[in-house]
Amino acid sequence: MPEARPQIVWLRRDLRLSDQEAFRAASARGPVIPVYVLDDETPRHRAMGGASRWWLHHSLASLATDLHKHNAQLILRRGRAAEVLAALVEETGASGVHALRHYEPWWRNAERALDKALPVGVKFIRHGGLYLLPPGTVTTAAGGPYKIFTPFYRALRERMPPGDPLPVPSLTLPESWPASDRLEDWNLLPDSPDWSAGMRAAWQVGEGAAQEQLWDFAERAGSYEEQRNLPSVDGSSRLSPHLHFGEISPRQVWNVFTRRSGEGVESFLRELVWRDYAANVLLQFHDYPEHSYKESFAAFLWRDHESEAAADLQAWQHGRTGYPIVDAGMRQLWATGWMHNRVRMIAASFLTKHLLIDWRVGERWFWDTLVDADYASNGTNWQWVAGTGIDASMFVRIMAPLTQSPKFEAAGYIREWVPELTELPDAAIHDPSDIERPADYPAKIIEHRAGRERALAAYREL
Ligand SMILES: Cc1cc2nc3c(=O)[nH]c(=O)nc-3n(C[C@H](O)[C@H](O)[C@H](O)COP(=O)(O)OP(=O)(O)OC[C@H]3O[C@@H](n4cnc5c(N)ncnc54)[C@H](O)[C@@H]3O)c2cc1C
Repeated sequence: MPEARPQIVWLRRDLRLSDQEAFRAASARGPVIPVYVLDDETPRHRAMGGASRWWLHHSLASLATDLHKHNAQLILRRGRAAEVLAALVEETGASGVHALRHYEPWWRNAERALDKALPVGVKFIRHGGLYLLPPGTVTTAAGGPYKIFTPFYRALRERMPPGDPLPVPSLTLPESWPASDRLEDWNLLPDSPDWSAGMRAAWQVGEGAAQEQLWDFAERAGSYEEQRNLPSVDGSSRLSPHLHFGEISPRQVWNVFTRRSGEGVESFLRELVWRDYAANVLLQFHDYPEHSYKESFAAFLWRDHESEAAADLQAWQHGRTGYPIVDAGMRQLWATGWMHNRVRMIAASFLTKHLLIDWRVGERWFWDTLVDADYASNGTNWQWVAGTGIDASMFVRIMAPLTQSPKFEAAGYIREWVPELTELPDAAIHDPSDIERPADYPAKIIEHRAGRERALAAYREL
């Protein structure tokens, strides 16, 4: 039976109206007040990086526009989420708060705090929907969590497809709306300087754009397996920021492919499961992105990135290492907030092995610069590449960027992102000789063999 008292929908990384259980459940109970709280204060909070804030601004603007079509508003408030929401409950007389369950340590803290902060009789109801299956529910025969990807994938796969997505609910509106901050006043967009031109050119943000991107990719998914590793080709879905901010649900993505088969589709769905796997790792180890999982690495001889290795770190960040594939990736990241997955692996391996810089330094850089920066996925992938993690490639498996680049046909990609090298023929562009190397393109900051040997020596020390 619907109530007259409003229901608050607390939004975080679930900025959509369709397949959104919190909206569905709230609207079944009463008038709905959607709220986004900009919270940089809850204990253990890892504040969003610059690129994420840019995306967030546009995603909130898009959601507000979509809500207006239902004559509803998006209420914006700032502060410690539990306190802000409890105050809003008092103010509006709401009898329930609905949210999708989140797994970052700060969101778990905020959810616990909200449980305590709400007045007696007001319910805080958490729903699933961020992942294909709720993290923690894919378990071994003995009932424990999986640590390794492949058995996790097999067990999750047996429980797919994930069921039908929910339609957009019809929203009942409250009699009056509480006050809201103005999005512009949050200063989420960069202004001095405005470095977001490349991001504006690369992305359409919001639920509608996410759906378009999904259907565009669905046309190409058959060739995903052959093309996903080729950075010069638009072979992957580019859904990662939309999935991260919840503009689309993984269930909606999976369902497009339920009745399709083939190598490309299977390979894509397997990649999608990595997202669930990363959340499953984070749920087991709450500070996974903060420390090497393999404890022995606490004593590893990383170079000091604030002194001895500072110039090398800067060269990596700015795409000036002298390795064209690494530089192309780092410049794509800086310009668009995204980097091709194969190149992420090469660039991360280069930082942690050739430059012998702690993976956590790279993880932080990606956190600040990726539009899909995701606490679980970023940490899991960095530890995987560095060889320090739970399901990691070994440290001694050192990627050779100069071999990877021609193997994955990166010439076109390098031309796009490293204009100094545009004139070089394919044969020279992956590793220009001293004569071929243009004057405005840097020499290699370390030779491959020297970098490799230094990394292996550090590992032997360990
Ligand atoms: C060092 C490093 C850091 C990374 N940091 C992030 C991050 O912060 N956020 C993030 O979403 N991905 C991260 N990835 C994983 C991967 O690179 C991106 O998900 C992928 O490039 C996004 O492009 P896409 O949407 O076209 O992917 P597709 O290949 O089309 O895959 C579909 C979806 O599956 C998920 N996915 C695919 N691969 C992975 C993976 N290895 N781990 C987790 N999820 C995956 C993503 O949600 C992706 O959108 C990282 C990888 C590396 C090597």
